[in-house]
Amino acid sequence: MASSPSLTIKSVRNGRGIVAAKNFRRGALITEIKGRIVTAEEVWRYWETDPRLGENCFRYDDDHYLDPDGEIGQYANHSCDPNAGIVKRGRRLMLKAIAPIAAGDEITHDYSTLLAADDVWRMRCNCGTSKCRRVVAHIGKLPAVTLRAYRRLGIVPDFILESR
Ligand SMILES: [Zn+2]
Repeated sequence: MASSPSLTIKSVRNGRGIVAAKNFRRGALITEIKGRIVTAEEVWRYWETDPRLGENCFRYDDDHYLDPDGEIGQYANHSCDPNAGIVKRGRRLMLKAIAPIAAGDEITHDYSTLLAADDVWRMRCNCGTSKCRRVVAHIGKLPAVTLRAYRRLGIVPDFILESR
């Protein structure tokens, strides 16, 4: 398990999650989301053998996902009112603060920002925020006002936007 002095893995509202061990200012790059780049076919096999492996994957481009198994990204939870987002820097996926984050806060991102129009996976949401959408689905299902806010923050990759 890769550990980092600025982050810890703790019990949170929904299982285990990534919790800040220090303060992050808005715009800070928190950590790289590391993992193995796998094909869409491999992810389909996860759905048949161990669905949790599939749920943890991050869409990486049109044909690939990043499998964070064994790395910190495995614990990255969704929120409908997140304090972080995923940005692509070259070939790397980075977790970026979109709000000030205090030590002790869980760090979350909105899974819909990485679900392209062909991602049929949906999740019933229990994030507990006032903005909860109840069901998390692909980018095309995101309310227009939310999508606009996320685009302004730069946390929706181009290939996801273009899939709509
Ligand atoms: Zn929610």
